[in-house]
Amino acid sequence: MAHQQEQIDLSPKVSDEVKFSTCYMCACRCGIKVHVRDGQVRYIEGNPNHPVNGGVLCGKSSAGIMQHLSPARLSKPLKRTGPRGSGEFEEISWEEALQTATCWLSNIRDSDPRKLAFFTGRDQSQSLTGFWAT
Ligand code: SF4
Repeated sequence: MAHQQEQIDLSPKVSDEVKFSTCYMCACRCGIKVHVRDGQVRYIEGNPNHPVNGGVLCGKSSAGIMQHLSPARLSKPLKRTGPRGSGEFEEISWEEALQTATCWLSNIRDSDPRKLAFFTGRDQSQSLTGFWAT
């Protein structure tokens, strides 16, 4: 009886679209190819033509998919409803969140804007913080 060799597809197609971007899991900004299927991120691989990483990725980049799809990811601003530290929050609209922040900060803008010090840590969300700062 002839031995039949099992055929295993070692590189199954995981996406119907590939987007080119850079990894935001740290400040190095390695080049990535993001495989998307049915509008969802399915797989992140290194971009071999990118000058920073030449296609090589660290484990954090591959785990970026978990950050993106985590059920714990915030999708709306949260407003604290209980005492500080109680963990009680409710979702509010962006309009309400920005109005609240504007209300808190308008006093400083009206009196002396130099009283405001604004720190962002590492620049993982500079588009949002830049928007907020203006
Ligand atoms: S692949 Fe790793 S080193 Fe490169 S940007 Fe992402 S987290 Fe940083």
